[in-house]
Amino acid sequence: MPEPQPEPGREQPRLDPWGSTVIDYSKVFTEFGISRFEELLPRVKEPHLYMRRRIIMGHRDYELILDAMERRRPFAVMSGFMPSGKLHLGGKMVMDEIIWHQRMGAAAFVSIADMEAHAVRGISWRECKEIGVSEYVLSLIALGFDPHRGFIYFQSENRMLHDLAFELGCEVNIGEMSAVYGFSGDVNVSKCVSVLMQSADILQPQLAAFGGPKPTVIPVGFDQDPHIRLTRDIASRARLFTVELVKREKDEYECVRVRAKTRDAASALKEVSSRLGGEKRAYEMHVDVYGEPFEEVERVVREAEIELGGYGFYPPAATFHRFMRGLGGGKMSSSKPESYIALTEPPEEAAAKVMNAKTGGRATLEEQRRLGGVPEECIVYELLMFHLIEDDRHVAEVYEECISGRRTCAACKKAAAELMLSFLKEHQE
Ligand code: SF4
Repeated sequence: MPEPQPEPGREQPRLDPWGSTVIDYSKVFTEFGISRFEELLPRVKEPHLYMRRRIIMGHRDYELILDAMERRRPFAVMSGFMPSGKLHLGGKMVMDEIIWHQRMGAAAFVSIADMEAHAVRGISWRECKEIGVSEYVLSLIALGFDPHRGFIYFQSENRMLHDLAFELGCEVNIGEMSAVYGFSGDVNVSKCVSVLMQSADILQPQLAAFGGPKPTVIPVGFDQDPHIRLTRDIASRARLFTVELVKREKDEYECVRVRAKTRDAASALKEVSSRLGGEKRAYEMHVDVYGEPFEEVERVVREAEIELGGYGFYPPAATFHRFMRGLGGGKMSSSKPESYIALTEPPEEAAAKVMNAKTGGRATLEEQRRLGGVPEECIVYELLMFHLIEDDRHVAEVYEECISGRRTCAACKKAAAELMLSFLKEHQE
């Protein structure tokens, strides 16, 4: 069979079953300082299919999580869901990631963000509760979350969370929130409070009641990065001490500097310093430690901070996945039921939506055979790759058959619709 040729004026798609040519995510790496996940992939044991297929594309500080996994130290995973409508496949992605981390040994936390749904979307408390349980909690457990080893809570019912949010609020001002979220003067105050609640959601796994500070990963889409950045800043501000490497010229290691952030903390520096090995030079607000490994200094300082009543937070880590598009090829929107598949909708209706989804097929069968399809533009392929086929070789086969013109869209959609039907039937049972 001759090699499929590109249409005139159109580039041949890259031979990459996991690639996406549709959305340019490069800016998030260059402008926002998010790191590329694939660089860490060789260190991940039994990676989730979102990792293997480069659907999880970015991370912040995921090395902390890998270190904890490798050394069998405590770590946590947490994410939240706003109970404002049906749980669609985009929300399922976050649940899958939480469940994977729980299976890898993480303490797992799931927030049902009813305060956010009430403040931002005006959903009544009663509806928040109904939607939260019937759409989110049930699906989470049906997908494999172990509630006996995890903590699912409604924001409005978690007193510890409220206290933490209040404390964190001392570390951030309205001007800063406005800069991060673009809030104008007419934004209601409860919306600002709900932002603090989310920061408290993210940091709660590190409270003493849950075993104290530990690396915590937040699986999210790229759009949630402002929450992650703000919370990382708040976590750092809420520390009593900072620990940093001081380097000489040419990046040569000099010493580890422990800096007190308040006068009270400075008065405890002598005691903290006495617990550290190595040579020390004390100053008014900091102490320089020579000849001790950074990790050891950090561990001792964190312990001392907790004894002094501080939090000792690790900066929260995050993974960022790329988005699924809507079934018509545009944005998936909860206000447009035809753009998404919900995990609780009748399986037959969902299968019919798959049959009507946008494909990357050609105008005629003859063209399809001659030129091949374009899976990068195909929502059916996205459904298969993100949700319906576990085996990587099978997905690669679909891709090859598509671009070589051996696969027809009619048969492909039918196969995807059947897989969707059986997935949803089993899920709902
Ligand atoms: Fe999409 Fe399948 Fe058609 Fe290829 S053959 S464009 S993967 S529906």
